[in-house]
Amino acid sequence: MMDREGILARDKRYVLRPYTGTVEHETEDSIVVVAAEGATLVDADGRRFLDASGAWWTNHLGYQHPRLVEALSRQARTLAHAPLAGATHESAAVLAEQLAAMTGLARAFYSDDGSTSIEVAVKIVLQYFAQNGAPERRRFLALPAGYHGDTIGAMSLGALDAFTHVHAPLLFPVSRAPEPDAETGFARTFAWLEDELARDGANVAGVFVEPLVQGAAGMRMYPPALLTRLAEATRRAGALLVVDEVFTGFGRTGTMLACQQAGVVPDVMCLAKGLSGGMLPFAATMVSERVYDGFRGDKRRALMHGHTFCGNPLGAALAREVLAIYEEEDVLRRAAPKMQRLAARIAALGARPGVHNARALGMIGALELGEPGYFEPLGQRACALARASGMLMRPLGNTVYIVPPLVIDDADLDTMLDVLAHAVTHVV
Ligand SMILES: *Cc1c(COP(=O)(O)O)cnc(C)c1O
Repeated sequence: MMDREGILARDKRYVLRPYTGTVEHETEDSIVVVAAEGATLVDADGRRFLDASGAWWTNHLGYQHPRLVEALSRQARTLAHAPLAGATHESAAVLAEQLAAMTGLARAFYSDDGSTSIEVAVKIVLQYFAQNGAPERRRFLALPAGYHGDTIGAMSLGALDAFTHVHAPLLFPVSRAPEPDAETGFARTFAWLEDELARDGANVAGVFVEPLVQGAAGMRMYPPALLTRLAEATRRAGALLVVDEVFTGFGRTGTMLACQQAGVVPDVMCLAKGLSGGMLPFAATMVSERVYDGFRGDKRRALMHGHTFCGNPLGAALAREVLAIYEEEDVLRRAAPKMQRLAARIAALGARPGVHNARALGMIGALELGEPGYFEPLGQRACALARASGMLMRPLGNTVYIVPPLVIDDADLDTMLDVLAHAVTHVV
């Protein structure tokens, strides 16, 4: 096997990195991962790093879960890929049934990642109204500072910032609710959406939200009751509610789906990340019976959208095994005390001077360091300290957060919280 230096040299010379300045990429040494298990990455020198970033928010069941590795290789030995047009296969068909049961929705449209699941939702929502007598419904409403992915449609729905404004000419218009304020928090944000739906709901096609937690915005959390009311307002207006469960799904917030805490079954739901156990790209856009009915008919009414690897058997087999693990290993019930432990430790950290807005939900803990503003370096410094203590943590500006696997063992969870506390108290 190639040594650490050989890998790093080639990485720096040939890889174009996501979200990484070339200066940072070419001068700083990344962790060279050679193996992983549970919550831990192992580097080329045999050093172990606890991964508090959850493999970019996908690692709910731990790295290399033996049952997932086995399900993947079993599927690979029999059928690694088959087209989903003019052909079908057991994994995609049975998984769709299972996802329908899990979400309360009717049909699964498969694609490759969170961003494409959103693109599909955008096209479904617009086409639904266009071919069912309401072509004037073309408006999209969204939360402020949302994140739905990096493709053009997903970016349009998300917030523009210093990094993405360069692509603004490509984006379609979206009406975004105002930012929460210090006094009422998200109440005024949601009140704006409700007012807009009452005022101009007949022109609204879709309302797009991340349920309960806005991940990339900095783990911003809002109460379930606001989502419940928004769902009612959307329904009254005859528009479609699209819930992006890409980050929150699969137990991240304590329930299988975050929208369950609000008692909401949306019209459209996007699933990715945890869906395939964090092992490969795989996504689904779930739609209700009402939406599906809007596509009944011949090819002129069909959803003219598809991806080469739509419903890929490897991803579908993994997702089926993921669902089996949640049920048979009682993942959510066993995670509950760990979530409480995490919440208590985060709350304690929040009492320290220089730390504010400490918050936790499910297996997410987050807090703010120092004053707001993306280019303040406190978050970066905390993460550098964590790394020196053997933990990978990635900041969102001055928000530092941890998203451990739901199945993390208690010792690893305590270590993760200890390292977080150490890093935080040293930078503020
Ligand atoms: C990560 C994320 C996406 C995008 O998913 P990708 O697989 O990275 O394309 C969309 N929505 C939310 C809420 C996410 O956290």
